[in-house]
Amino acid sequence: MKIIIGCLNHEANSFATDPGTFERWHRTNFVAIGDEVWEYKDKKGAHLAGMFDAAAEEGVEVVPSIFLAGAAPELTREALDRGVGIICDTIRRNPDADGLCFCLHGAGIAEGIDDIETYTMQRMREAAGKNIPIAISCDLHANIKPEMLREADAGVFGMKQYPHIDKYETAYLAMKTLIGKLRGEVDPVTAYCPVPILIPCSGANTLKYPMKAFPDHMAEYCKEKGLIDVTFFNGFPHGDTPNTRCSVVVVGRRGQDVQACANELGKWVWEHRHETDIELYDAAGAWDKACEEAAKPGDGYVVINEASDNPGSGCPGDGTGMLRELLRRNEKGTIFGYIYDKEIFEKACAAGIGGKVSGLLGGKSDHCHGEPVPIENAVVRALSDGRGIYLTPNKVGQVVDYKGLARLQIGNAEVIVAGTCANQTYDDRPFLLTGADINQYRIVILKSCTHFRAWFESRAKAIVTANTPGNSAENFALFHYKKLRRPIYPLDPDMEFNPE
Ligand SMILES: [Zn+2]
Repeated sequence: MKIIIGCLNHEANSFATDPGTFERWHRTNFVAIGDEVWEYKDKKGAHLAGMFDAAAEEGVEVVPSIFLAGAAPELTREALDRGVGIICDTIRRNPDADGLCFCLHGAGIAEGIDDIETYTMQRMREAAGKNIPIAISCDLHANIKPEMLREADAGVFGMKQYPHIDKYETAYLAMKTLIGKLRGEVDPVTAYCPVPILIPCSGANTLKYPMKAFPDHMAEYCKEKGLIDVTFFNGFPHGDTPNTRCSVVVVGRRGQDVQACANELGKWVWEHRHETDIELYDAAGAWDKACEEAAKPGDGYVVINEASDNPGSGCPGDGTGMLRELLRRNEKGTIFGYIYDKEIFEKACAAGIGGKVSGLLGGKSDHCHGEPVPIENAVVRALSDGRGIYLTPNKVGQVVDYKGLARLQIGNAEVIVAGTCANQTYDDRPFLLTGADINQYRIVILKSCTHFRAWFESRAKAIVTANTPGNSAENFALFHYKKLRRPIYPLDPDMEFNPE
C-alpha cells in the first residue's frame, strides 16, 4: 500500500495589505519539497511526523510531496497553484498510490477562492483519479466548510490544543483512519455543526480553564459515544469568508448518527460562549497591568504578548504599538524580543558591538501597525547570526533563522531587532541568541497570540495580552468584514442560536 502525504497549510489574514506571494507564504517557516520533507520525520512538533510514524507502524509506504505552513495575506492564484502544483506532480509520478493523507489548515484563502482546502483536494482528485480516498489533518483555527467534509471522505481530523502541541497526534490519527478505510476495517463518516462565534485567539489558551474545558468535554464525549474523533475548531476570525466561525466536527463509523452528535456538541459550545470573552488592554493598559503583576510577591518576569501584530496570524512583526510604550516608560529591567527591521539590523552590524545606531525603528511594512519610532544613539549590546533550534514543545527540534539579531540598548530598555520576520516568538531563542537571560528582567515583551504559552506559561510570573492596533487585534468591531455571515457572537451579542 502506498500513500502520498504532505502539508499545505495557509492561514489567511484578510486584513493584511501586502501581496500573498509564494515567498510571503513561507516567510515564517521553511518550505520543503519532495525528499526534503523526510527531514520532518522525527520532528514531533511538526505536522507530518505523526503520518510517517503511523504509516511505518502499519507497514505502509509513504511518498512525501511538500511541507509548507504559514500564515499570510490572502494568496495570489500563482502562489496557490505553485503549492498545489507540487502536490499534483507528486501524484502524477505515483499513479499506483492508494490514498492521500494531507495537513490542510482549513483557513486558507486565495484570490477568488474562499476555501483553498476544497480546491486543493479537487485538484488532487483530478490528478489521482476521482475515487481515491483522502484524509485531512486540520489546524484548530480551521474555518470548516461543508465541501471540505465531502472531499475528505476518509475524515477531517483536527488539533484540539492551543498552543498546538498535538499536531503529531492529529496527523497520526488521520493516517491510521485512512489506512483502516483502505483495508476495509473502518468506514468513517464525518459531520459538522457550525456555531456562530468569533473566538479571540489570545483568549483561547487550552492549557488553562476556562478554555481547557472545551477539548476536555469533546474528548469525554468522543470516548463515551465510541466515536473516532471529535474536534472543536475555533475558526480563524481574521479570515473574511461566509464560513468564518467556530464549529464541531465529529468523525464516526457508518451507522453512527454523527450529525446528531455534532449538533449536541454545537449546542454545548453555544451555551458556553461567554467563556470565550476576553479583557482587552491597549499598550498603556497592558503596561500598567504588567507592573501591577510584577509588584506582587514572588520572583520571575511578567510577559506582555502583543497579540495584535502576530506574525503567526499573517501580521508583519514590525508593529510599534508596544515598542513605543516601552520606550516611553523607559524603565530598567525591560526587554522586547523581537521586532523585525532589516534596515536597523544592518545599521547595528555596521556600527558593531558598542557602536551606536540612530534612525526609524519598525512600522515600515504597512500602515496598520503604528508609525516608525525614532531612535537616537541606541547602543549595540550584542549581535548574533540569529540561527537557533526551538525548544518549545510545539516546534521542538526545528530550526529558526532570524537572519541576524541585534540587541540594542535604547535608554533604559533593551530591544532585539531581527533581520527577518521569522514567525512569532515561541520560546527564549531570540533572547538567548543575543546573550540575554530573560530571568534577569522584570518585564519581557514579545509578539505572539498564544503559541508562546507552550513555553512561557509555566515559567512567567504572569502574562498580560496587549491589543494594540494591528491586523490580528481582537476588537472585531474595528474590522470591515465583507463576507462574514451575520449575526455572529460577540458582534451581535443578543442573537439566538439553535443547531436543530
Ligand atoms: Zn492555529
